[in-house]
Amino acid sequence: TAAQKSSDVDVLIVGAGPAGFMSATWLSNYTGLKVRFVEKRNTKVFAGQADGLQCRTLEVFQSFGMAQKALNDANHMWEICFWDPEPETGIIKRTARIPDMTPGISRFTQVVLHQGNIEQYFIDYLKEHGDNIKVERGVLPESISIDESKVDDNDAYPVKVTLRHLPEEAAEVEQFGHKVQNGLFRSANLMTEKDDDKSLNADTDVRETINCKYVIGCDGAHSWVRRQLGYKMEGEHTDYVWGVLDIVPLTDFPDIRHRCAIHSENNGSVMVIPRENGLVRLYIQLSDVERLENGMVDRSKITPEIISKCAQSIIAPYKLTYEKISWFTAYQIGQRVCNNFSANDRVFLAGDACHTHSPKAGQGMNISMMDTYNLGWKIGSVLTGRSPRNILKTYQYERRQIANDLINFDRKFAKLFSGKPGEIDLEEFQKVFAISHLFASGTGVEYDASNLIAKDPSTAPNLKEVVPPVVKAKDLAAKIPVGQRFMSYKAMNQSDARVWHLQDVMPSDGRWRFLVFAGNIKDAEQNRRVQKLGEYLARPDAFTYKYTPEGAEYNSAIQTLTVHCAPRTEVELDDFPRALRPEHDYWSLYVDDVPHHEPHTKCYEQYGVDPKRGCVVVIRPDGYVGYVGDLEDTEEVEKYFSQVLIPQRK
Ligand code: FAD
Repeated sequence: TAAQKSSDVDVLIVGAGPAGFMSATWLSNYTGLKVRFVEKRNTKVFAGQADGLQCRTLEVFQSFGMAQKALNDANHMWEICFWDPEPETGIIKRTARIPDMTPGISRFTQVVLHQGNIEQYFIDYLKEHGDNIKVERGVLPESISIDESKVDDNDAYPVKVTLRHLPEEAAEVEQFGHKVQNGLFRSANLMTEKDDDKSLNADTDVRETINCKYVIGCDGAHSWVRRQLGYKMEGEHTDYVWGVLDIVPLTDFPDIRHRCAIHSENNGSVMVIPRENGLVRLYIQLSDVERLENGMVDRSKITPEIISKCAQSIIAPYKLTYEKISWFTAYQIGQRVCNNFSANDRVFLAGDACHTHSPKAGQGMNISMMDTYNLGWKIGSVLTGRSPRNILKTYQYERRQIANDLINFDRKFAKLFSGKPGEIDLEEFQKVFAISHLFASGTGVEYDASNLIAKDPSTAPNLKEVVPPVVKAKDLAAKIPVGQRFMSYKAMNQSDARVWHLQDVMPSDGRWRFLVFAGNIKDAEQNRRVQKLGEYLARPDAFTYKYTPEGAEYNSAIQTLTVHCAPRTEVELDDFPRALRPEHDYWSLYVDDVPHHEPHTKCYEQYGVDPKRGCVVVIRPDGYVGYVGDLEDTEEVEKYFSQVLIPQRK
């Protein structure tokens, strides 16, 4: 008989895929929270499946201190080659080479490695950061209900969930072959020595009831949470059938270590993705497949041999066999977005649970993680009493737009990739590919006006869904667009001349940033403006103190950072107001000046900031720019903060 337990938790995360792990990672930065993280399967890591890490994802990994591991382990993608049939002979020829990502859109380029590694980085991070959020495997929810009378009460636990701890056999996952659910494939052979959790299902056959403040459904494309909420995926289930092979190839094709898009004259297209450890992934659209009565492809009939034969015919006259196959799958894609991402701002859906699409452009895992990168800090801030609940409305508002953009991008991309030469314009394909980098890299994301984004409300068609901004940002930094992530350029530390990427001085730790471009303080008028700003920031009623709990350190809620552009050796730390450079703090003040050991990257120019005027920038905990104004606009900044933060002092 099942034992019954009951407890209260702040957050329940359902599903330990990329979206679930990112939620857990964020929440581990908010001390004192009780978080449960359940996963129905008993395996720890993925093999195969997603393999691309986009530029923005790497920036975010870097902000958690995880990027270096990924960069070490991954294959780096530098160039993409296009191969098309020659009009006269029909034989494939290289027609273009372009950079894999548009140079300059991020300090990172796209890299590839399998999802299992990525999940391991998260597991390591959670262990190193308090070790109080752990994946509980072999555990799944059985029922969920929301008490709507309590959803607005901050202290209530309005979501009741029953959890079941599965017997070991029930949590086994089919690892190889056709019984694996469409598109999902997990392999045990890549489990690492770190997978030492032998306590799996120690509580077998236990059911428990938990009362949650928040639930995040990160349970993938077949989301149980979504179905319980009665939410529908909208869009099409396309007819495209994809075969994927991860192999160590034996071939005379010269570009096998490049990412390639190959269109053959009559045999279809293949995308080549060079991977880590000598692997290469081939994505092939399969045209001649057997179907079930319901029109879905009969995946049991698709073998690695069929996929490989298809690849051989596309790549001919070059030869292609393989030394080793590490993974294969075949799946039919749907391009769909859920009609709702949240119920009462208490139960949220993220990742594949609320959007699905084709995998070739390497988006799913990245966008899934970016969903919970958007959500995690908001829930953390509300739960710790720093922010009002209304910021949670911006999750669906900001991320559903991205999901819609993703589906539109995928439709265009999949059609051009899969179309036959003659039916589609191959030059147009190359152009779309190049233009799409901004979206595909994740760096082009721009959120609409809301209480978190101080932009012109008239630019936001769905503003009624959220709280509108009280202020409008000024156009003072041409290359710091409000609503986009704060791009990283380098500046030098005033105290020790070390060069830093500015994103690296703003790690993902839950803090807001108030960044002051102080300009050239050798100029008397500019110096006066900076001193005046400093006087304001030092006032006990200024936002620098107001939102910081009594007794907590200055800079612990809103971190003030300054980048000036006076000649470094002509100014001293003490020339700056204390509020910009607290005593014994050597990491708040930076300068745009010529470094000793590398070229001068001129960050004022890169950010489009006038050195004579400067500006102030408010950056959200997830690195997105919320507000830009003049040094004198402290009242506006205060208005901005008053909408998204709760005063912590009487
Ligand atoms: P998932 O990774 O599906 O994780 C969901 C988790 O929830 C699973 O672990 C599941 O076991 C668990 N779960 C499900 N139901 C329950 C339940 N009721 N209770 C408890 N746990 C539950 N994306 C990219 O970005 N780049 C790529 O290159 C790329 N390539 C791909 C290649 C292929 C062949 C495929 C199939 C996908 C690819 N994707 C790629 C997509 C990517 O894998 C997914 O978008 C991504 O895994 C989604 O992450 P997620 O966390 O939302 O869901």
